[in-house]
This record gives sequence, structure tokens and C-alpha cells, in this order.
Amino acid sequence: MNLTVGYLYGDCMNIYGDTGNIICLTKRAQWRGIEVKVKNLSIGDKLKSKEVDVFFFGGGQDLAQNEVALDLQTTSKGKVIKAEVERGVPLLSICGGYQLLGYYYQPQNGPKLPGIELFPVFTQASSERMIGNIIINSQFGELVGFENHSGKTFLKKQATPLGKVVKGFGNNGEDKTEGCIYKNAIGCYMHGSLLPKNPALADWLIQRALEVKYQKPIELNYLNDSLEKQAHESVVSRFG
Ligand code: GLN
Repeated sequence: MNLTVGYLYGDCMNIYGDTGNIICLTKRAQWRGIEVKVKNLSIGDKLKSKEVDVFFFGGGQDLAQNEVALDLQTTSKGKVIKAEVERGVPLLSICGGYQLLGYYYQPQNGPKLPGIELFPVFTQASSERMIGNIIINSQFGELVGFENHSGKTFLKKQATPLGKVVKGFGNNGEDKTEGCIYKNAIGCYMHGSLLPKNPALADWLIQRALEVKYQKPIELNYLNDSLEKQAHESVVSRFG
């Protein structure tokens, strides 16, 4: 089996360790004998259906978000990403990436940036920065990460949050929700990198990607996650 990871705007949207998620997906697949290719998809790059088995879209500063928002709106990439998610292709987006997959992101200064309306959410920059370790409860169990954003994301009524904040700010520091999940696509504010400390989520993305690609149930081989569990627990024991 093989897996193609689509790294969306990795050259300009990759802050706070987010590239670690690409490394984690790659390694956890390779450790199971699955061949992995990472396809960088940035400004001006073309994307066709079935080219990518799982997408990753990291966080970035407002300046990069301006350019990326324009690219998503003016090339077919935004439409193709939405269509791929509709057919079940998994996606993980974090912070700045997550914001651009919603309805819009209104920065502190400058014009509103339209999103591709994948997630039924919208984001408004705020004067406070929400920074620190974050712990949530979700369908994947307890997830830990690190957040650093001024954007406050609010869920529209049809939206499903990724989880409930136990410690930290989450989407907006007000309603105790964190992130959003739609089909096999996830948006959240959990940098860190997220996946190395939350192996069950990493494996869920890999498993879903292979099931959609090969159109059959996939059982991933067991991996010894003792180091990952230690990294996870180190956050919970200090901040939980
Ligand atoms: N510029 C956005 C915000 O501050 C996203 C930052 C990020 O990706 N960490 O909310």
C-alpha cells in the first residue's frame, strides 16, 4: 500500500511545529510498511481529485493568510479540497489553515479573508492572544496541544466541535468548544505538534485515508506508543 500526504502551503503555513504532523503521519505509515509520498501544494500549484490521500494545512501569520486565501479563491484548489472531503478524504488543519477553511477570517487590520466554507465556522481577530497548552476531550479521547492565536472562531449551528476544552482557550475562549469536525476533516487550534502527542488521532487519519483510497476496511498494525504516551502525559501532568 502507499499513501500520498498533501501538505497545503507548507512553505508559508507551518508555524509552531506544525511540520511535525507531516513527519508523524509519514513515520507512522512507514513503520507499518506503507510507502509515503509528501506532495507540497502551495501558491499556484494545481490539485486534481484523487492525487492526495490525506491533507494537512498548518498555521501561519496574517500576512501569509492573505496570500493563501487569495490562492484558495482564485485557483481550483479550494473547490477540489472541498470535493475531496465530501468523498471522505481526511484532512487536518490547524489555526491559520483552519480559519481559511471556514466561512471567513476577519483579521485585526485589513479586509475580511473569505474561506472555502468547508467548516461551518467563522473567525474574528481579537485584541487578546490566546496562548498556552490546551487539553480537550474528544471522540479520539483526550487530546493535548499548544495554542497561539488571536482569532476567535465561532461555530454555526450545524457545526460539530472537535471537542470540549478541559484546559486552555479553544475556539474562542468563551464557549468551551475547540475545533470543528466535518466528515473526516478536522480543524483546530492545537499546534505542538499535535499528532506526535496524540497517536490515536494520527492513526485515525492514516486509516481513513487508506480506507477511502482502497475502498476496504483497513486494520493498522500495532505500534509501541510508550514515547508518545510519555509526551502526552508530560502535558497533562504539568497543565491538566
Ligand atoms: N493569524 C491567526 C491568528 O492569530 C492564525 C495564527 C496561527 O496560525 N497560529 O489567529
